[in-house]
Amino acid sequence: MLKRFLVVRACVGSPPSVLDSREALRDLKAHPEETGLFLDLDGTLAELVDLPEAVDLPARTREHLASLGDRYRAVVIISGRAAAAIRGIVALPHLTYVGNHGLEVIESDQRKVWLPPPDASRMRLMEEVLRQSIRLPGVALELKELSHAIHYRGAPDPGEARTRILTALEGLDLERVTIREGKFLVQIRPDASLDKGTAVERLVRERGISKVLYAGDDTTDLDAFRVIGRLGREGAIEGHRIAVWYPDTPPDLLEESELRANGVRDIQALLGWLAEPD
Ligand SMILES: [Mg+2]
Repeated sequence: MLKRFLVVRACVGSPPSVLDSREALRDLKAHPEETGLFLDLDGTLAELVDLPEAVDLPARTREHLASLGDRYRAVVIISGRAAAAIRGIVALPHLTYVGNHGLEVIESDQRKVWLPPPDASRMRLMEEVLRQSIRLPGVALELKELSHAIHYRGAPDPGEARTRILTALEGLDLERVTIREGKFLVQIRPDASLDKGTAVERLVRERGISKVLYAGDDTTDLDAFRVIGRLGREGAIEGHRIAVWYPDTPPDLLEESELRANGVRDIQALLGWLAEPD
């Protein structure tokens, strides 16, 4: 009974579909020189996969991104992956890549690390400890220099793998890190007040962006959604937040968004529409 109630509530509370509400984005499309497009990678531009290295960006999405990058003030791909890895996957040198959930950026082929050097070296030293301690079937370590992720989507029993990972991390007694969970993954991040939200705010100010579209599907995107909401209320930007919907999308993300995309196909269609000349 309770389950049925929750399902109904999720449908009723869901924001309108982005493809049915494109008129709301007409102003962005009419002023690309003022607009920043911030797009999460996994689950937003590319389908979610069991192993991070299996990610596949659709060719048509890449074509749309290439054309948007030529016309819009900024096209930023923002992800928990390392910035160099995102750039390798998207393979478009004129875009901007924010990696490690806002700890680093690559723009115009220059990498900047926003995480202070002592924190960065502490995270690097942690790699070998994790390699030795987390060895479970179907579990993949993504060691990214500035932050780390442990993926268990491919484990025979993902629920059990999650428990064993969290127990192992507790036993390691890692100092000054934050453990956060995403979809079938556990993140280990430095205790630094940097996230996807701080990255968006920094780029908005540096690039003089006055209109923002952000699309994402997971808890770390909430950091960006909240910053965009605040900047909108302050009158600094016109912000549009799109939650990419899956059955396991965090309810908070839907609550903080104005529009909903049903998976990567909707996002691809949206990018195609934005890329068409107005
Ligand atoms: Mg994602």
